[in-house]
Amino acid sequence: MQNRSYDCFINGQWLPAHSCETLEVTDPANGDVLAHIARAAARDVDDAVQAARAACNTWAGCPPVQRARILYAIAQRIAQEKEHLAELESRDTGKPLKQAMADAVAAARFFEYYAGVADKVLGTSIPLGNEYFDFTVREALGVTAQIVPWNYPLQIASRGLAPALATGNTVVLKPAELACLSVLELTRICHEAGLPAGVLNVVPGYGYEAGAALAAHPDVNLIVFTGSVATGVAVMQAAAQNIVPVLLELGGKSPNIVLADADLDEALPVILRAAYPNSGQTCSAGSRVLVQRSVHRELAGKLDGLNRNLRVGPGLQDPDIGPLISGAQQRKVLDYIEIGRSEGAEVLDGGNLLAGLDGSRGNYVMPTILDSAAAGMRVHREEIFGPVLTIVPFDDIEEAAALANSTDYGLVAGIWGKDGGAINWLAQHVKAGQVFVNCYGAGGGVELPFGGYKKSGFGREKGMDALLSYTQVKNICFRIPSPRA
Ligand code: NAD
Repeated sequence: MQNRSYDCFINGQWLPAHSCETLEVTDPANGDVLAHIARAAARDVDDAVQAARAACNTWAGCPPVQRARILYAIAQRIAQEKEHLAELESRDTGKPLKQAMADAVAAARFFEYYAGVADKVLGTSIPLGNEYFDFTVREALGVTAQIVPWNYPLQIASRGLAPALATGNTVVLKPAELACLSVLELTRICHEAGLPAGVLNVVPGYGYEAGAALAAHPDVNLIVFTGSVATGVAVMQAAAQNIVPVLLELGGKSPNIVLADADLDEALPVILRAAYPNSGQTCSAGSRVLVQRSVHRELAGKLDGLNRNLRVGPGLQDPDIGPLISGAQQRKVLDYIEIGRSEGAEVLDGGNLLAGLDGSRGNYVMPTILDSAAAGMRVHREEIFGPVLTIVPFDDIEEAAALANSTDYGLVAGIWGKDGGAINWLAQHVKAGQVFVNCYGAGGGVELPFGGYKKSGFGREKGMDALLSYTQVKNICFRIPSPRA
């Protein structure tokens, strides 16, 4: 791929940053420079917010069906360009090509789904007696700031953009400095599909510059953030200064709970895939297995066997596990494996650096299983964000629920087994925004509400629940005295 360059996109135009500075984006499989992106900072962010503000009334006021048609056109163009988008996403993030293709398909689906919703954002009428006519409307919030991470750039950008645009909001989007090329291509697609100038503005650059300036901007009406807990705290603090609502999708340490009567041969391939989407760099990854003690040994042996067959290599060769996003992420994951070892977990398989399938010098870590971990261990509680899976045994469902809930996170949980009573009890007692039974959707489809309990964040993305996040309710009450009184 030739080395490209991308500017900021503000008010319908591609513009260099005021500073004219750029950042390099590199291929995590080999360190090659893929592109240069504008290094936006506070002045660029301010221009983008002003453009988004200027576009607010026209966009919110246009007939919803018109917004729907533009969103549908965006969906169609994404679908037409899905091979190109998937290849770019795979190169930029390192993720296996098939997973990048799934992201491109999901991105198109977000625009398709919310195109269908745009003209169905309904209010209610509230009976107050004959003299009053009272009803609610759901209004757009105004300018939404969307800060997107590097693990699923195309999918997460589409997940926030589509409902925001469908409900009449405008957007200033800050993609991650480590991987953002698909988002910049999506921006082009939105423009070509007829999105009016100013409705979507994109400011690439560093989090501490462009991201912080956007989160602190006084003329933003909603901040949508996906990323780490630490940055989520900073974003929330900045938002508090301006009394701006935030929608936070932070990390996870999601469990798959395996009961003794589960069909292991059916469950384990799914559980292993659920642990390592995007090489484990996924907030909703099922990175912990909690297993009923009577089948612990059998499960560990079978998982170990499956794990040894996984192929590691550059994303474009469509392996099971690609390179991690950066050298820093690779070091962090390897450090965690050492922490697990020193805490007393048994390293079944993996645990070290690896050259890719082609012997390349990418940021690889072998997929690693840490067996017989325990509730107090850091590897059981903290988000590692790499191909590392812990196994912890339990005796009964009360202990399973306690273990599942023994982290600061609560994003997703899987439950595997046949005993309906035990499954139902666990589904009620696990503190997670999504519970999957005998399956694991890692965030699920476009239709399912997605979001966390506890430090996994708050607010819900996806599905119809996102409409609540991207609109506010106005109650309008008419007093209409009867002419016959
Ligand atoms: P991060 O939270 O720092 O970055 C996410 C986004 O926030 C990026 O666009 C970044 O530029 C921006 N950002 C950074 N600092 C900011 C600030 N002060 N104000 C506003 N925006 C800011 O995440 P990271 O450093 O790239 O990754 C660190 C860890 O975060 C990972 O190891 C992982 O544990 C977690 N993470 C979680 C998710 C998720 O999907 N929940 C995604 C990425 C990273």
